[in-house]
Amino acid sequence: MQGDPLVALRYNQHMTKFVGYRCSLCNAEYLPGQVTYTCPKDGGNLDVVLDYEAIRLKFQPEDLASRAEDSLWRYLPLLPVPDPGGEGTPLRAAGWTPVFTLTRLAEKLGLEHVWLKDESRNPTASFKDRASAVVVARAREIEAEVVVTASTGNAGAALAGMSAAIGQKAVIFAPKSAPAAKVAQLLVFGAKVILVNGTYDEAFDLTIQAAQEFGWYCRNTGYNPFTAEGKKTAAFEIWEWWQAENRESKTEKSEKSNQLPLTIFVSVGDGNIISGIHKGFKDLLALGWMEKMPRIIGVQAEGSAAIANAFHAGTEKIIPISANTIADSISVDLPRDGVRAVRAARETGGTYIQVSDEEILQAIAALGPLGIFAEPAGATAYAGLVRAAGQELVKAGDPVLVLNTGSGLKDVGAAMRAVAAAPIIEPTLEAVKRIL
Ligand SMILES: *Cc1c(COP(=O)(O)O)cnc(C)c1O
Ligand SMILES: [Zn+2]
Repeated sequence: MQGDPLVALRYNQHMTKFVGYRCSLCNAEYLPGQVTYTCPKDGGNLDVVLDYEAIRLKFQPEDLASRAEDSLWRYLPLLPVPDPGGEGTPLRAAGWTPVFTLTRLAEKLGLEHVWLKDESRNPTASFKDRASAVVVARAREIEAEVVVTASTGNAGAALAGMSAAIGQKAVIFAPKSAPAAKVAQLLVFGAKVILVNGTYDEAFDLTIQAAQEFGWYCRNTGYNPFTAEGKKTAAFEIWEWWQAENRESKTEKSEKSNQLPLTIFVSVGDGNIISGIHKGFKDLLALGWMEKMPRIIGVQAEGSAAIANAFHAGTEKIIPISANTIADSISVDLPRDGVRAVRAARETGGTYIQVSDEEILQAIAALGPLGIFAEPAGATAYAGLVRAAGQELVKAGDPVLVLNTGSGLKDVGAAMRAVAAAPIIEPTLEAVKRIL
């Protein structure tokens, strides 16, 4: 490997841009080899620090847009990992998800422009593939033998799937209450699956202990600094898409039409997706590649709203709750990335919205007839938009992008609760006529 000049070049490029970590609480800085997970002083989440000057010297925004890679790996120049390889495998298919126009729903809500970025199209059918792909690249770089994560299901499925793609060993701890489809994914991808008779939060702490005990590399959300780096690639895609969208709609007299800032709706559990997306936009601002920060609105389930509570109390102090919601992927007692999640809304002029389980089920039923199948946590962001439109948090002309973070196939039990059951009839035409 050392003798391969191409590998050496890739590695050098990577080393010049990844300069270390900065604690989100005390601002202490660390070199890349100095720490692995959180701040040793106060347990704060670490932000990856990039050398923007070095990146700017080597790359222009057009260099990214012109890369042939139709996946999150097109943003390798902005990621703190070397190229993990895995060409021709699902690892190379993470990200680059489609954006759909929700014209009919926009009309209903009294809005002009509503889009949905469909993260259920990722290889293991959730947003988590972005984080797991980049963590697997990091694991390969540091030659970790085993990667482990706690998960309500999706993070584990993503880690299991991305690991399977390149033959990396993975261990997944999930609460035994995880939906069957998610557990099936873990098992089929060939990970070592351990179901914990406890909550996600208990599985989380156990995973950290096990990683220490057995020398495994831990991917836990809001603990491993590389998950947010993977998740930030969604911001890069949104930025690229929004530029293209505006180029198309720009007329000669409205040169400024691309100045309208987007409002983005994200569902929030641990708070790592929203802080990752925020980080991506901060990278672009720091590089001078983007002018205006989009407004980021976090949506939580009423029964799992520790971050929303802190936001509305005007504090960064996250008080744990006892979570209870149908949206299992965002059911979290103690959010592990709460502080940065509060800031993602506060620093972008956004806010937090809470929605009931009933509203989440209605959101699943509203998106379905457009051909979009969301799991409860995936539909939560749209439920938040419905609330926001009702409260005039978004104005008619505001361009709005909603994320669907996970596929409805992940939790068919919840999906069936969102719709009326199908009739069962005798196999006769009369019976058909009776029910039509
Ligand atoms: C994990 C997850 C979320 C929330 O992400 P956090 O980083 O925990 O806030 C939302 N939707 C789905 C489908 C998820 O799997
Ligand atoms: Zn610190």
